[in-house]
Amino acid sequence: MRSTGKLHLGNYVGALQNWVRMQDEYDCFFFIADWHALTTDYADTSRVKENSIEVLLDWLAAGLDPAKCVMFIQSHVPAHAELHLLLSMITPLGWLERVPTYKEQKENIKEKDLGTYGFLGYPVLQSADILIYKADVVPVGEDQVAHVELTREIARRFNGFYPRKEGRGTGYTYDTYSSGTNIATTSRDVFPEPQSLLTPTPKLPGTDGRKMSKSYGNAIMLTDPEPVVRQKLKTMVTDPARIRRSDPGNPDLCPVGDLHKIFSSAETMAKVNEGCRSAGIGCIECKGWAADGLVKILNPMQARRQKYADNPRLAWDILEAGSARARDVAGATMNEVRDAMNISLEYEPPKGPAQ
Ligand code: SF4
Repeated sequence: MRSTGKLHLGNYVGALQNWVRMQDEYDCFFFIADWHALTTDYADTSRVKENSIEVLLDWLAAGLDPAKCVMFIQSHVPAHAELHLLLSMITPLGWLERVPTYKEQKENIKEKDLGTYGFLGYPVLQSADILIYKADVVPVGEDQVAHVELTREIARRFNGFYPRKEGRGTGYTYDTYSSGTNIATTSRDVFPEPQSLLTPTPKLPGTDGRKMSKSYGNAIMLTDPEPVVRQKLKTMVTDPARIRRSDPGNPDLCPVGDLHKIFSSAETMAKVNEGCRSAGIGCIECKGWAADGLVKILNPMQARRQKYADNPRLAWDILEAGSARARDVAGATMNEVRDAMNISLEYEPPKGPAQ
């Protein structure tokens, strides 16, 4: 996740909630991508570090647990940069120019100059981020599937050029970190090909009915206190068919209805469906129920966050420990990579003249 600062409900529903479930099933590595943030925000780095911490606090608030998963900041594991460099040697330019988000973002983000080497190459950095942990799966949204596909192509190309040296490393398995869920496989390939793990993400509109996004100013933040949440809900757009209190509406066509579907109980949902369609309830009442559902989720998160906000050193220590673990795993992979590419750091006697 990019280091964008405080997270909103859309980030929670779209990714974080799923990650919290995944940490019980997989050996998870979650990192705050501060280098990725620099690909677009390179001109002003004044808040990069602070933004990373805010993201971590929201992760911890949402329930990511340092005892169950590895959390770290990308720039604290410099091996990502080394692998990025090596992968960039073998990645054809055409593959990067074809990445859909590259063209899209260059066209949409007019206020920044994205004609940089770093911005073109960020999918290679992403590939390095994934491959360095020999990831089997990457939890992504639809818009990132093309990036995981590119990662597979880069892995295939690397494996084709540079077979793993016999007797070195362990193929696909981790050298230094494994909970035992990975099956020990011996392979001539250094990198496994990761799969996208697509999870259905429910539609979560912002207060103006558009997709929730900080840049639209329509977001409900995970840190919004209860009165702010209630106030934001009050201003939220509803089914346009309900002009008067006596007009019936349809929760399926109403952004508040979408919130109910995610955060309210079946019992409340039934009351909304009945009351909205028969004009038996007013939108103000309905929004109050939606706010109740949100606050029930947000209150315990905010209490967890407070513990770390009061003692930021605690959060930093979690990052440090996570970065150290990530460096171990990434370091082991890099030994295999350098070996396969014939640039290992070990002394080797001269081979004699080339045949
Ligand atoms: S009653 Fe609720 S679901 Fe129906 S239009 Fe109003 S806010 Fe939307």
